[in-house]
Amino acid sequence: MNHPYSWIEDSLKTLHRANWYRRVKTIQGRGGAVIELEGRSLINFASNDYLGLAADERMIAAAIAATQRYGTGSTGSRLLSGHRDLHRDLELAIASFKNSEDAIVFSSGYLANLGTITCLVGQKDLILGDQYNHSSLKNGAKLSGATVKEYRHNSLEDLENQLLAHRHHYRHCLLLTDTVFSMDGDICPLAGILALAEIYNCMVLVDEAHATGVMGENGTGCVEYCGCQGRELIQMGTLSKALGSLGGYVTGNAKIIDFIRNRAATWIYTTGLSPADTAAARMALEIIRLEPERRQRLHQNINFVKSKLNNLNILPSEAAILCLPVANPGQALELSQKLLEKGIFAPAIRPPTVPTSRLRFTAMATHSLAHLEVLVQSIGESFPT
Ligand code: PMP
Repeated sequence: MNHPYSWIEDSLKTLHRANWYRRVKTIQGRGGAVIELEGRSLINFASNDYLGLAADERMIAAAIAATQRYGTGSTGSRLLSGHRDLHRDLELAIASFKNSEDAIVFSSGYLANLGTITCLVGQKDLILGDQYNHSSLKNGAKLSGATVKEYRHNSLEDLENQLLAHRHHYRHCLLLTDTVFSMDGDICPLAGILALAEIYNCMVLVDEAHATGVMGENGTGCVEYCGCQGRELIQMGTLSKALGSLGGYVTGNAKIIDFIRNRAATWIYTTGLSPADTAAARMALEIIRLEPERRQRLHQNINFVKSKLNNLNILPSEAAILCLPVANPGQALELSQKLLEKGIFAPAIRPPTVPTSRLRFTAMATHSLAHLEVLVQSIGESFPT
């Protein structure tokens, strides 16, 4: 008889054969625009630290001060012994930043999506989600027990056709979409989605993970960027990308947030965010408010790269994520390796993370013009047109 775990080795071999196998890479020291990776100094185009806050001295000082005052861990779930004044202070600051009535912070963005979706819908309900939504939205949908259907990426026509066909069979309906798509960098047609939600009586949860701190006049996200502030919807985001910390948030009206606080298992049954992460995220909001020039610099950097690479098939993007599609996983790995040899860190993104292989570059406010020029030149040499 086979050993009960032997299939795992076979499965790993299959991953290797398909070029789907993943290996962790160790970055030494602080992250940033330039990193030390396995003994090499590389310009980093793989970070979600869009504003360069994760290594900011003020963030570090805030985390240290909170650790000294409150200790290293929250030591309990928020409803038991894990709640501190700094948690609520952060939630109120997020609510004000996002122009929402209230907010709740989770230990990660992934948990925020799982917890929120599973408490909003159940077996009698319908979820309609964009086919390219983040894994946390898709898994939250699965876990909820609702009937889950996907509409074609950013297609309002397909969304409306599916609403017409299915909405009336279900009690509640929840529409799910990333605002900035994490692997393509494009933006959802938010105004159209909200209009359909109104007609078909649906709730809407948008994932602002890659938009928070990046998009909109005040950097509050795509809801602002798309002119949809003040509309009835639920927004989530992460504290771990432009905010340079760790954790996730959900904002909405006070009743919705109160309901989540009472029903979301991934909030109730897990330890509260650590004091250090909470204080760092709070400091990030302050820096974002005081230093809009960081966001302006980020967009200058994005526009510079896009304008220099406009002869390539870069996917259209207004956000800090730029994608260059390639033919297959092997080619993606080969091109990523070529760039590595030229001092650039830009990972190959392959199935099953995405349906088709690509190189993905993320811009940071802290990239210098010289960093961007190296990127553009290296891509030019590696992808002859
Ligand atoms: N949503 C999206 C669109 C994301 O890209 C991510 C992180 N990759 C998450 C949610 C999860 O956020 P976190 O890393 O805070 O768990």
